[in-house]
Amino acid sequence: MTESERSKYIDGACEHFRALVTEQLDRAERMKERERTDFSKLDKIKIGVVDGDGIGPIIMSAARRVLGALLADEIKSGRVEMCDIEGLTIERRLSLGVSVPDDVMAAIKSCHVLLKGPTTTPKGTTMESANVTLRRELDLFANVRPVRIPSENVDWTFFRENTEGEYVLGSRGYDIPDTLAFDFKVTTDEGTRRIAKAAFDYAAANVKRHVAIVTKANIMKKTDAKFSAICHEVAKDYPSLELEDWYIDIMTANLVNKSIRSRFEVFVLPNLYGDIITDEAAEIGGGVGTAGSANIGDRYAMFEAIHGSAPRMVEEGIAEYANPTSILRACELMLSHIGFNDKAKKLSASLTKCCDVERRVAVTGNRDGATCADFAEYVAENI
Ligand code: NAD
Repeated sequence: MTESERSKYIDGACEHFRALVTEQLDRAERMKERERTDFSKLDKIKIGVVDGDGIGPIIMSAARRVLGALLADEIKSGRVEMCDIEGLTIERRLSLGVSVPDDVMAAIKSCHVLLKGPTTTPKGTTMESANVTLRRELDLFANVRPVRIPSENVDWTFFRENTEGEYVLGSRGYDIPDTLAFDFKVTTDEGTRRIAKAAFDYAAANVKRHVAIVTKANIMKKTDAKFSAICHEVAKDYPSLELEDWYIDIMTANLVNKSIRSRFEVFVLPNLYGDIITDEAAEIGGGVGTAGSANIGDRYAMFEAIHGSAPRMVEEGIAEYANPTSILRACELMLSHIGFNDKAKKLSASLTKCCDVERRVAVTGNRDGATCADFAEYVAENI
């Protein structure tokens, strides 16, 4: 590389970094304006329902059946409205060239919470995944995933920071062709404070004592060290909690170590580590069909299955055998979030009976098992 090329790249990088720092300072400032939805004060709670792609419409019809049974009185009285939102299909998104069309975004924002079927992420285009767009636009900063193994006394809840870390500038790195590339990781004080508070509020409300802060602060000395320090600072308001710092590498090992894994309760982690470890935990907990996921912000919240649209099941003609347990667990999280704890418990009890105890109607994800619709009927009957 010539001296002049070198200097062109260095100047370009400085300009690029200046723009990113400016933008991220603005984002950090906006984060301070917090406006929370108080569901107990709403006359009507509007639940938006998006079917999604692939097996989405099939598992969402199971969710509608079960929620219809659980919320029959509230829907009749007008306290709850289920709003079907159309138009978030992969075909329409591709034809418009946008990850979430404006009319769909407006409809979602007119609801208080969103129950969403899996959406296919197009390959070979620069189009962002619908989930990344929704998390950013609705500012859904906490990804909450519970994983339970009752036979082993494992009861974990993960609080993954959902809006920053490596993801916020994931497509805005700086590349010097044939030489080197940078990506950026951003951790803000306010972004960390709000995820820490969400995790600690949950722990305190659910009589959990132990919270693991999981980082790689020994290597990422600015971002992860800040994350851990701020968690400890926020924890001063929660004197009953026991905090422990762990590094992500040993924590991934801890989760497969049966002799110690049941001692962990609540986890709080930056985005990338949370992304990886929650899939590991879901697999340990019985696979993608078994856990739900909540994406929570101050104003909006989105609930979904942890699996994708399973295009192969559709191609093989076995979509109707899809397992709806994950989306039903997401419904359980949604019911708790909007203040219907008794209904969440009823759904949880029915799912435990149907999946783990009685198993009279069992889905396998194939023709040798029950259909998604039959299983939904079974869960609804046991509520
Ligand atoms: P996937 O979760 O769709 O499938 C992984 C495996 O699990 C497949 O073998 C599939 O058949 C099986 N599976 C998934 N859900 C199942 C269910 N309910 N019952 C039985 N078996 C089930 O993952 P993938 O194939 O990597 O992704 C497919 C598409 O979904 C991609 O476009 C991906 O981007 C998207 N995706 C979306 C979300 C979301 O919307 N939250 C999450 C993950 C993946």
